[in-house]
Amino acid sequence: MMAADGTIRHDWAIDEIIDLHKLPLLELVGRANAVHRMRHDPNKVQKASLLSIKTGGCPENCAYCPQSAHHREVDLTRDTLMDPESVVAMAATAKAAGAERFCMGAAWRQVRDGREFDAVIEMVEGVRALGMEACVTLGMLKPHQAERLATAGLTAYNHNLDTSPEFYGRIITTRTYQDRLDTLATVRSFGIDLCCGGIIGMGETIRDRASMLHVLAGMTPHPESVPINALVPVEGTPLAKQPVIDPLELVRMVATARLVMPASTVRLSAGRSNLNREAQILCLVAGANSVFYGDTLLTTPNAGIGEDAELFAAIGELECNHVSASAA
Ligand code: SF4
Repeated sequence: MMAADGTIRHDWAIDEIIDLHKLPLLELVGRANAVHRMRHDPNKVQKASLLSIKTGGCPENCAYCPQSAHHREVDLTRDTLMDPESVVAMAATAKAAGAERFCMGAAWRQVRDGREFDAVIEMVEGVRALGMEACVTLGMLKPHQAERLATAGLTAYNHNLDTSPEFYGRIITTRTYQDRLDTLATVRSFGIDLCCGGIIGMGETIRDRASMLHVLAGMTPHPESVPINALVPVEGTPLAKQPVIDPLELVRMVATARLVMPASTVRLSAGRSNLNREAQILCLVAGANSVFYGDTLLTTPNAGIGEDAELFAAIGELECNHVSASAA
């Protein structure tokens, strides 16, 4: 096996990634931590705040997602697009609480030109004017729409691959893996950073997890931000009965992501509410260096504000006045 020494590579083989993933846990975490320290300040954890600006009623059928209109059993209140003034006010609150990045999510299949997209542009401009990084997730994008977002100052576009190309059809059938890759390429071509990762715990194999990392690490450059989510099974979705994964599986995934994408920000995302403080800290040791904070992540529970304050106090960050900026 080639050593994972912090070199940026785009030629990882899937089997090489599997070999890293199955290292003895302490060896894996140790190597990941060494690479993390080469490339990042080990004491710095970026705090991102996530707001659902348009909730529910999405025409896509992602099996894990309570916002899909296909999952009629889900108990979710749908909301129309929020107004830009309220969104920017929530961003200001999040900034005062220590957030550096403000992420806005709309449950759309794709962006449509018109009043709603104009409002999103206004939100991006408003968040940037606060001096914060702005990220949006809006579904598929056409080049002229990516250009407008870039002109508005968008820092990053979130568009997750979710899982491996091989497993993808078991999770989503209303769009293809190639659709995702095309949007990512469009976003990248306008100089916007990519926030792109996936979810574990949906019934995929370790090879699937490695295969997803293989696609991500094959991108040039690597996505600047890689969210690693653990499935939060939601009643009424097809994955409702999926068992919650062992936190150590998340640790392994974070560590492997850190080894194959040494310079990226690895974000501990959904599923953090199922981790105790110590498991979260182990993820941070293994190379995660960003978290979402706030009571909810779009529509699923996140670590509570009190728990986050406790977490940041425990790792030596003293600015613990976090408040939620989540609407959902
Ligand atoms: S994950 Fe996104 S695209 Fe899929 S159903 Fe949910 S909101 Fe729609």
